[in-house]
Amino acid sequence: MMTHIAALIFDVDGTLAETEEAHRYAFNRAFSEAWLNWTWNQAIYRQLLKVSGGKERILTFAPDASPELVAGLHGRKTQIYTKMVASGQVSFRPGIESLISSARAQGLKLAIASTTTRANVEALLGARRAFFEVIACAEDVRRKKPDPEVFDLVIKRLDLPADKCLVLEDSINGLKAAQAAGLATVVTPSLYTRGQDFSGALAVLPDLGGVTLAKLIELKG
Ligand SMILES: [Mg+2]
Repeated sequence: MMTHIAALIFDVDGTLAETEEAHRYAFNRAFSEAWLNWTWNQAIYRQLLKVSGGKERILTFAPDASPELVAGLHGRKTQIYTKMVASGQVSFRPGIESLISSARAQGLKLAIASTTTRANVEALLGARRAFFEVIACAEDVRRKKPDPEVFDLVIKRLDLPADKCLVLEDSINGLKAAQAAGLATVVTPSLYTRGQDFSGALAVLPDLGGVTLAKLIELKG
C-alpha cells in the first residue's frame, strides 16, 4: 500500500502526555528546597508556558536570578520531574500508544521533536525510546520552538521530504515551528494550550483516542 505519510513526528510535553502539571509541581518543589518563596500556580504557569524551555521560564519569572541559581534550580527540577515520570505518575494521552504501534506495524518512521531536555524526554519514553528513529531535544538546537530548527533537524535526520511527514503538536509555538518547516500538523490541545490560535493546522482534535493511522493519512490527503 502506498501511503502519503512515511513518518510521524511527535512533540512531547502536552502531546505525548499531559506533562505540564508534573513540570509545575517539580519547579515548585525545587524552589521550596532552595528556600525560595516562589510558587507557580496554574495562572502564572500558563503565562510562563509562552516561553519555551525551563531555564528561560525561570528567568522570565525572576529576571535578576544569577545563571548559577537558574542552572541549579533547573537541574534539581529535572531530577524531581524524571523521578515522577519513572515512578509512573505521568501517563500517555489517549490514542498515543495505539498510534505508535500501528505506525510501527506499517513501517512508518517515528521521531521526536521537542525543546525540552533529553533527560525529560527519555524518562517519559522509557523502553519505547527504541521505537523512535530520531529523537531531537533542547540540547540539539540553538533556537527553541516557535523556531523551526528542531523540525528542520528531524526531517534532515529522517532523510525524508517534509511532505512525507506528519507532526502531532499541542501548542501554538509547536504549530508555528512545524509550519515554518513546511510540515503538516495535527493539533491535540492540552490542559494549558486550549483556546490558543491553531489556524493553519491540518486538524484540531480533542485527543487521538480512536484516531487511526488511516484517519491521519486521510486528513493529510
Ligand atoms: Mg507541547
